[in-house]
Amino acid sequence: MMLGIDLGGTKIAYAVVLPGTSTIVARHVTETRSHEGAPAVLQRMIADCRDVCAAAGITPAGLSGIGIGVPGVFDDTTGRTLFLPNLHGTWPNVPVAQTLSDSLGCAVWLINDARAFVLAEALHGAGRGADNIVGFTLGTGIGGGVVIGRDLYLGIDGTAGEFGHQTLALNGPRCGCGNIGCLEALASGPAIVARATQMLKEGNTPHLAQALANGEVFTPALVAQAANAGDGALVRLLDDVYAAIGAGVANVVTMFSPQVVVLGGSVSNLGAPLLTAVRQVVHERCRATPVDRIAIVPAVLGADAGMLGAAQWAFRRLQQWEVQ
Ligand SMILES: [Zn+2]
Repeated sequence: MMLGIDLGGTKIAYAVVLPGTSTIVARHVTETRSHEGAPAVLQRMIADCRDVCAAAGITPAGLSGIGIGVPGVFDDTTGRTLFLPNLHGTWPNVPVAQTLSDSLGCAVWLINDARAFVLAEALHGAGRGADNIVGFTLGTGIGGGVVIGRDLYLGIDGTAGEFGHQTLALNGPRCGCGNIGCLEALASGPAIVARATQMLKEGNTPHLAQALANGEVFTPALVAQAANAGDGALVRLLDDVYAAIGAGVANVVTMFSPQVVVLGGSVSNLGAPLLTAVRQVVHERCRATPVDRIAIVPAVLGADAGMLGAAQWAFRRLQQWEVQ
């Protein structure tokens, strides 16, 4: 059996998975509490790995391998994280793979969390049956991944697929990555909330103001709700967001001509209006690609995708390892 771990900024999710399948034998979720520091988080992860293995009726040494989806950049050769922006301290040079491997007695591989999502959706979810798939994670950040011939295309250190950091506006807003005009700076969850906040201050969003006064949480979903209730400024804001995501998807479609584009993440929960707008923009902008044969679809695995993709990644690396 494989163990897939999704290391997030707020939660860590664990799943013991039958190799090459989406069958979860046992699962466990805990809070990350990254303010305690990387060594403390890693020690808790080791204990949680033992617990979830026990629930599956095995010991960690009986696992074939562990895959960990990490929210950022890592060194694939050493298994050390380099920059995890959503974790306290950003985890530079933290020996994640080695620490878990030494304590648990089995092989550990890292993968970027968005690449894990796309691998899982490609093999077991919305892209099932297709050979070439691209995916977007639309949330606090915007990530993505490329599957070619049912295998991840990774680029250097797994960095291929950073679709959120494609330049869409030559003189646009500054992105967290340092560039200006990235898709992420235009259409991530925080970007949507920031722009809605501006409109709120200008007094153009009475329904949003009322909802916030009622104690509702300020999310992209709440912005969409206020737009539907009649806040015209927010309708135009969301139109801009959908246009930006549509253009980002269109660029990737132009480059890869995939059979399936999978959209996941919290912003994708805006649902049918987003999907409809993205499909329309892709049809308008991709004139040299047979877009009628490209399915643009929502993700189907939900929160399991990260764990399943990490487990699947470990399974693939194990197979490559055994061949060598
Ligand atoms: Zn960027």
